Amino acid sequence: MRIGHGFDVHAFEAGNYLMLCGVKIPHCYSFKAHSDGDVAIHALCDALLGALALGDIGQLFSDQDQQYKDMDSRLFLREVVQRIEAEGYRVGNVDLTIVAQAPKLADHILSMRKLLSEDMRSDIRQVSVKATTTERLGFIGQEQGVAVHAVVLLERTDVN
Ligand code: MG
Repeated sequence: MRIGHGFDVHAFEAGNYLMLCGVKIPHCYSFKAHSDGDVAIHALCDALLGALALGDIGQLFSDQDQQYKDMDSRLFLREVVQRIEAEGYRVGNVDLTIVAQAPKLADHILSMRKLLSEDMRSDIRQVSVKATTTERLGFIGQEQGVAVHAVVLLERTDVN
């Protein structure tokens, strides 16, 4: 088994929705980003890559590269999972913590888990998404952006 950790922060800019775990959530800001700004999928990709020491999402999909402009981050995730499988591993389980003061995410958690588990070819019971605030402290509490922590466990496919 291999364990991986990922962390990402995206700042807000003017806008009216957030992409989080592939779910478009109405909000009074959007993420400032080269891709669709899905900070949760970016943290998850870094955790998956980190588990096998395959680098990070910035090395695979450069934000200087125009082909990734406004890119659907789910495509990054699927590509990363393909690389994991090519190395002889599958996703065991993942656990994400989204740190956001607003909006409230509880109603979206199930859709997030569903989309992520599809993209990782994994059972939804293996995919945990949680949300918390920082009690109004710091840049997250002051609603300047969102942070996401991700932990994953990978299992070798040739071992039962
Ligand atoms: Mg990012």
